[in-house]
Amino acid sequence: MLRIGLTGGIGAGKSTVSKVLAGLGAVIVDADLIAREVVEPGTPGLAALVDRFGEAILTSNGELDRQALAATAFADDESRLALNSIVHPLVGARTMEIIESVPEDAVLVQDIPLLVENGLGAAFHLVLIVSVEAEERVRRLVGSRGMSEADARSRIAAQADDDQRRAAADILLDNNGAPDALESSVRALWSERLVPFESNIRTGTVVSAPRVLASPNPQWAAQARRLIARLELACGDRALRVDHIGSTAVDGLPAKDVIDIQITVASLETADELAGSLLAAGFPRIDNITADDPKPTYQGGETDPALWSKRIHGAADPARPANIHVRVAEWPGQRFALLFRDWLRADEAVRAEYSAIKMRAADKAAAYTSDRDARDAYMDAKAPWFDLAFNRASQWAEQTGWSP
Ligand code: ADP
Repeated sequence: MLRIGLTGGIGAGKSTVSKVLAGLGAVIVDADLIAREVVEPGTPGLAALVDRFGEAILTSNGELDRQALAATAFADDESRLALNSIVHPLVGARTMEIIESVPEDAVLVQDIPLLVENGLGAAFHLVLIVSVEAEERVRRLVGSRGMSEADARSRIAAQADDDQRRAAADILLDNNGAPDALESSVRALWSERLVPFESNIRTGTVVSAPRVLASPNPQWAAQARRLIARLELACGDRALRVDHIGSTAVDGLPAKDVIDIQITVASLETADELAGSLLAAGFPRIDNITADDPKPTYQGGETDPALWSKRIHGAADPARPANIHVRVAEWPGQRFALLFRDWLRADEAVRAEYSAIKMRAADKAAAYTSDRDARDAYMDAKAPWFDLAFNRASQWAEQTGWSP
């Protein structure tokens, strides 16, 4: 199952998007609709509200009078919390019931107006945000929904702003143009990303990483933050820490467009236990792969090569390749990944050296047609520099008192 969180400011076009997605075969779960269902006449939800706020919140025919409820429940923090503690668990339970009843291959789209405000993004494989300039939203709300301009403006002001939404969005759907344009971007998104993403999770398929080096991308940090939030939620206490590592974690370095994340665990057994949760979160395990892993060659054998073992997961999302390295706390590979990143971040000259090495390695790799040969050529070209870098970084750690 693929879970998408759909949101956007009021009047941005969420309902319009969810209609198109429903037409394409998505299962839509509308949080507002559920919030109304769980307090319909005759429900335990409505009884609990009456118990707390009194009969005055009912209309003459026994339905919830939303305005009356708002007047009492939003009067002070304690009442607001009481309202939330009644309604939220009911909405949560009903949502879970629906999720459990959908087919295994469903693409589930949860329409949640306050997804960003409530920080819910990590629970979804992707957060999809519909975006329209605030002034245009006011025009649409006034024009087609008959809202007063003052009302539209005050609702917009009470929600998250565009920057907060942008930071939470894996996909930003621009709906400033005509409805047709929106519909065709939704269709493309469905067939190019959502459908293959769902099928990759079901079949445990990892998307392949691009081979070429990309210029430093200012989006990498935010993309990594969103992946980390998902991974932390999927791993719970079993992850001791989750870090953005590798070249995409160092500002200004060219890199293959693959986000590297390290999950630190207490043992390889824990790493193995996490495989199912990571798959469900969109990160299938990769077996028998040599990832681009910095590691010194062993001549003197003073470090046990077994201590470099790890588990690797890739990404099922066709639009966001990633390597998830699950490593054991304080083993050399776990420590070096963090040290190497911090050393590169701290030293501009080393960054320049490493950039040059990477570009030369990428040139050499470009001569090969098979992915595997290209990857080996790339690794081989970087290896001599890496062997020295290992010691240099360790010296830097000693001099600066660095610790992970
Ligand atoms: P939301 O569910 O996010 O609050 P809606 O999907 O209801 O927003 O859209 C708000 C209003 O704007 C609706 O009346 C809708 O028909 C209209 N609308 C949506 N997209 C467009 C568009 N691209 N151009 C013009 N009007 C639009």
